[in-house]
Amino acid sequence: MKNTADEVWKSCLSYIKDNINKESFKTWFNPIKVIKLKDKILTIEVPSKFFYEWIEENYIDLLTSAIKKELGDDAKLVYSIMMENIYGNETPYTIKVPSIKRKSINNPNVNLPSEVINNEIKNPFIVPGLQKLKIDSQLSPNYTFTNFIEGDCNRLARSAGYAVSKKPAGTSFNPLLIYGGVGLGKTHLANAIGVEIKERFPEKTVLYVSAEKFTQQFIESIRNNTRNDFVHFYQLIDVLIIDDIQFFAAKEKTQDIFFHIFNHLHQHNKQIILTSDRAPVDMSGVEQRLLSRFKWGLSADLQQPELETRIAILKNKLYKDGIEIPNDVIEYLAYSISSNIRELEGALISLLAQSSLNKKDISINLARDMIDRFVRTTTKEVSIDYIQKIVCDYFDLSIDSFKSKTRKRNIVQARQLAMYFSKQLTKSSLANIGAQCGGKDHATVLHACKTVNNLADTDKTFRTYIEEIEKKFNMM
Ligand code: ADP
Ligand code: MG
Repeated sequence: MKNTADEVWKSCLSYIKDNINKESFKTWFNPIKVIKLKDKILTIEVPSKFFYEWIEENYIDLLTSAIKKELGDDAKLVYSIMMENIYGNETPYTIKVPSIKRKSINNPNVNLPSEVINNEIKNPFIVPGLQKLKIDSQLSPNYTFTNFIEGDCNRLARSAGYAVSKKPAGTSFNPLLIYGGVGLGKTHLANAIGVEIKERFPEKTVLYVSAEKFTQQFIESIRNNTRNDFVHFYQLIDVLIIDDIQFFAAKEKTQDIFFHIFNHLHQHNKQIILTSDRAPVDMSGVEQRLLSRFKWGLSADLQQPELETRIAILKNKLYKDGIEIPNDVIEYLAYSISSNIRELEGALISLLAQSSLNKKDISINLARDMIDRFVRTTTKEVSIDYIQKIVCDYFDLSIDSFKSKTRKRNIVQARQLAMYFSKQLTKSSLANIGAQCGGKDHATVLHACKTVNNLADTDKTFRTYIEEIEKKFNMM
């Protein structure tokens, strides 16, 4: 009888080779290394968990008969599986598991990690034939906390997210539901939490998935009769991030399965992070029992960013890309686009592209031109905020004093001019203009416009003010 592991394995291989096609042999058996042979237990090393599963699934009969032929009926097979560390470059480690498909060569004394015992693991992200089992976290390395600018608009959500990333499932924020309008940073923040967790806890399985993709996978699993695999896979995750769960609305079956998975994860002390474009109370079409689960944790909203935050976001982006553009252009963009950070960034990118394509300097002119043409939600008119800024800059006043209740003459005058220009340059109602200029009513605005017109006719200095400020708007 042959006695060294190498010899035994060599004979096994030549038997196997005769019984399968060349390609399969190359793919599945060439990479296997024999580790040792002891007490008729043959240990072989496979490069990944997926590899192991594949062999158990497809070649175990062949492998078993090869081994039995060499070592007799009481032979046993143990796999040593190289485990991948997905994030970071820590050295791979191995785990040992016996073959579990065939009782005859099963070794009941080996302790199996529970996830491997249920070797039904099918990662929906794995394309069959791919050689690695890694539950790829599907996270984007670009969306991190470092480049997520903090502001009043996101303070709660951001700090809750940060707390979660320091202690996944160890805070009361489970689930953490981040909600807010389009382009306000939900995906970025949810992703940042995942990246941070991966960094702090490389051994944790983190998965980011959009609700849409989750739904597709689920539907597919029904079609392929692999619903259990689907559920099983999700139950293995330590930190599950599902983006845009409003997509689950009116999809009862998907909600059902999600409910199931949610409960399992929550019970097993796993972290769940969800995002939605609306608050839980507004999620019609989502089952009550699911909504009530969300109340177990924290719902934090992302609001529209304040001006300073918008400017900071733009500057941060430029800084990261090593680009400099004039401050007034940054301010102009930040003033013009207030409701959506994605559009704000989009405008900046278009502006940079425009300038380099047409070899034009980046100026307010170009910015205005570009915004007119490319930015969907922005009207062609300047914003009232921006008008106020220009007027305040002109008179060297602070916006705060401008908006205060003071009746000082110079400030009253600035307010009147801002109202006048707002009437001229925007389509806003008098009431709206008044509201934005320190909480005045429409009559005040009407009066202001009349006053400015009168003074323009009678007061030369005042006329100069108007003309000079007008120039600033025309220049754009
Ligand atoms: P949502 O998922 O809410 O629609 P995203 O997360 O996709 O929005 O964000 C849109 C864009 O705005 C992304 O490029 C993102 O990086 C950026 N963004 C959003 N919030 C911030 C922030 N606070 N700091 C920096 N960038 C942000
Ligand atoms: Mg998103």
